[in-house]
Amino acid sequence: SDELYQEITLPTGLTFKQPIGLFINNEWIKSDSKFETLNPSTEEPIISVYEAGVKEVDLAVEAARNAQKEWRKVNPDDKGKMLLKLADLLEAKTDLFSQLEALDSGKPVESNAKADIFAVADYLRYCAGWADKIHGKMIPLAYNRFAITKRYPLVVGQIVPWNYPLSMSSWKFCPALACGCSIVIKSSEMTPLSLLLFADLVKEAGFHPGVFNVISGFGKIAGQHLAEHTGLDKIAFTGSTATGTKIMQSASSNLKSLSLECGGKSPLLVFDDADLEQAAKWASFGIMYNSGQNCTANSRVLVQESVYDKFLELFKKQVIEDWIVGDPFDKDVTLGPLINKAQYDKVKSYIGKGKAEGATLVLGDKDFKFPSKGYFVAPHIFGDCTQKMAIVQEEIFGPVVAVSKFKTEEEGVANANDTIYGLAAMLFSKDFERAHRVADLLDAGSVYINSSNDEDHKVPFGGFKMSGIGRELGENAIDLYTQTKSIYCNV
Ligand code: NAD
Repeated sequence: SDELYQEITLPTGLTFKQPIGLFINNEWIKSDSKFETLNPSTEEPIISVYEAGVKEVDLAVEAARNAQKEWRKVNPDDKGKMLLKLADLLEAKTDLFSQLEALDSGKPVESNAKADIFAVADYLRYCAGWADKIHGKMIPLAYNRFAITKRYPLVVGQIVPWNYPLSMSSWKFCPALACGCSIVIKSSEMTPLSLLLFADLVKEAGFHPGVFNVISGFGKIAGQHLAEHTGLDKIAFTGSTATGTKIMQSASSNLKSLSLECGGKSPLLVFDDADLEQAAKWASFGIMYNSGQNCTANSRVLVQESVYDKFLELFKKQVIEDWIVGDPFDKDVTLGPLINKAQYDKVKSYIGKGKAEGATLVLGDKDFKFPSKGYFVAPHIFGDCTQKMAIVQEEIFGPVVAVSKFKTEEEGVANANDTIYGLAAMLFSKDFERAHRVADLLDAGSVYINSSNDEDHKVPFGGFKMSGIGRELGENAIDLYTQTKSIYCNV
């Protein structure tokens, strides 16, 4: 019905029908309330979508659980083919999806949003390849006995953030679907649109009713109820560490298995033997891309004393060269707005704290042009930072970087590890032995030698310390979405 779809005209003139309901059992349904999603570039509402409350979460979980009865009989090969078809369907609509994400999340179409959609299609294809390779082992035992292990899918709740609306969701739904799970996925209340639009493609690709359910809603209501739900076997979450700790408590209701991808404050170390131009290039990309709204952003840059001044000069030059702030639909723009007013205020308050705590502002608002309306923040570089400063310790989640000096390799590593987080770390050195020695000592789930934030879906991803539990991507994702049964055979 028309009430479940609403027409949107994108700034490019592209017009389409956006689903606004809750996607349960391959059907769109309404609820008692709606909420608005805003365009962060204009601060104006785009559209209202139906909100999931407790009742709709219950319906979605029931749908996912019921779906297993028939879904488990479907051949893994056929599940793989559906994932391949889904990839093709999505790729054919790259323009629409990337423009929609630009509208809802503020990411520039050309430099960010398209890459996200291509990445989702790629990951669908990668996971399609796993669908018929989910198998166990045969373990020989004494006295001619043996055991076999089999892997079983789960009924999973997935809760995702706004910074990569479809792409972060894909890190969860692609492997889950490949493993034969049925899922209920909750988008961020900030960016519900692309996942809703995607749901129709999932149905078109042939997935059975109830296998893939999408709900829009708020963390404290739909999110919390999902995390507490005793009808789920597992909850997978990406978002802040503060929310991650709450989800862990909620998930304890029925001892759900849990994977958490949380916040970060990733250090990038520049040693005296580094290629400083390369270091400046990657450091600029690694902190400013997506307006710094990256869990693995290299938000701290630690530079060895003897190359500090030279590096800072190159870094400043590079950031000015790389980033054009403005309308995400402008082809030249590389840096869009932050997601909302709360995030804008938070980032601005950290910029104030940096100044108040005595860091030197090397680059900031006066060095860039940007629109006065919308949640735009220009790239900021702070120099002369020290370990205790809030801008060095706390996740800002914006285009703000804290640069500090260290003397010895030992001091550099100690400062890099002096954080509650452990998601990623980057280091620049041309010395092979040093690079690997330091990579070994850094407390982080991913270490990049001579690059930053160029992760690949074939490689496991996740956090040490308070950055999370479990590893997504690569072969590891299969462990996240299956449970093992051991069958003893005495024959
Ligand atoms: P957030 O924690 O506020 O929200 C994430 C999701 O959790 C949203 O869908 C939200 O509705 C839901 N939620 C909020 N409170 C909840 C509750 N009590 N129970 C259940 N669900 C709840 O995070 P955000 O602001 O959307 O995203 C930014 C954060 O995400 C940053 O800290 C960033 O580092 C982190 N992040 C991490 C990764 C990673 O892979 N490690 C990736 C992207 C973002």
